[in-house]
Amino acid sequence: MIDLRSDTVTRPSEAMRRAMASADVGDDVYGEDPTINRLEATVAGLFGHAAALFVPSGIMGNQLAIRTLVPPAGELLCCSDAHIVTYEGGAPAWHGGIQTRTWAAGRGILDVDTVLGMVREDDGHTSPTIGVAVENTHNRGGGSVQPIKALRALSGGLRDRGVLLHCDGARIWNAHVATGTPLAGYGACFDTLSVCLSKGLGAPVGSVMVSSVDRIALARRYRQRLGGQMRQAGILAAAGLFALRHNVERLAEDHANARLLAGALGVDSSTVDTNILLVDVPDSAAFVKQAETAGVRCVGFGPVRVRLVTHLDVGRDDVVTAAQALAPLPAG
Ligand SMILES: *Cc1c(COP(=O)(O)O)cnc(C)c1O
Repeated sequence: MIDLRSDTVTRPSEAMRRAMASADVGDDVYGEDPTINRLEATVAGLFGHAAALFVPSGIMGNQLAIRTLVPPAGELLCCSDAHIVTYEGGAPAWHGGIQTRTWAAGRGILDVDTVLGMVREDDGHTSPTIGVAVENTHNRGGGSVQPIKALRALSGGLRDRGVLLHCDGARIWNAHVATGTPLAGYGACFDTLSVCLSKGLGAPVGSVMVSSVDRIALARRYRQRLGGQMRQAGILAAAGLFALRHNVERLAEDHANARLLAGALGVDSSTVDTNILLVDVPDSAAFVKQAETAGVRCVGFGPVRVRLVTHLDVGRDDVVTAAQALAPLPAG
């Protein structure tokens, strides 16, 4: 079975497991896990920020971050297809009492003037816009990359208006590798970022929130209230450090494989920026079943669309096999 449901299905390699097994650890609640401390300092440095916090999941990274930006009843703007309002169980409302308002965007690619035009001030009636969240790459947009020019323009425009900016960077590594934009170039645009180690980078667990010293101190407290503090989790952080060393540049292979798959399935490869491929089909539930019978796993993305994701556990040969298996299935 060739599993293209998500890049989260990757399993830690032997070498990654060895790095985990030999990690130096301590009690992180006392700040004494040297491997977690090293991971946090490394990731903060990569994005040009002062501090970072290791968290169990991307959702927790996003949710801690937006809560450090937006108080209860404050407003957060994001894309209507953003993970934060699509796949996080209503967490902004549940945990933060945060009001969200959304913009629509083709392929998830933001339009700066649209977003700036939505910012509202407190006029005695409205909930003022305090924060904006941008997803890069954009999952439901098909792994699309937000152009760095747009991110810089948005960041500057929001700064002028006193509005804060968060990046859901679960797959920011893919954007970095696809465009060559330095991670610090992305980091400079945002007040907070959340980045995943457990997607294309292949670590079994973990995400990192990145921001200033003060915001990370606040996020640490919010994490503790959720019971998200961990003890000798340097074993997990070691997988993240290993992934940063070995599995970032190789994402280019996943991107090439996604384009190869697009070509074989008749999908316009100019819509494939990174490792995610969206295919329009007559009936996604039927397609997923037929694909499974043919030896390929994928997921429905609505009634008439499926998502295929390339990752480090599927090589080029697997992708060629998958393309041959899927090509005869009905596409829309
Ligand atoms: C996967 C994902 C997350 C959340 O990550 P988890 O570790 O599954 O909580 C957040 N944002 C985007 C865009 C994602 O794809």
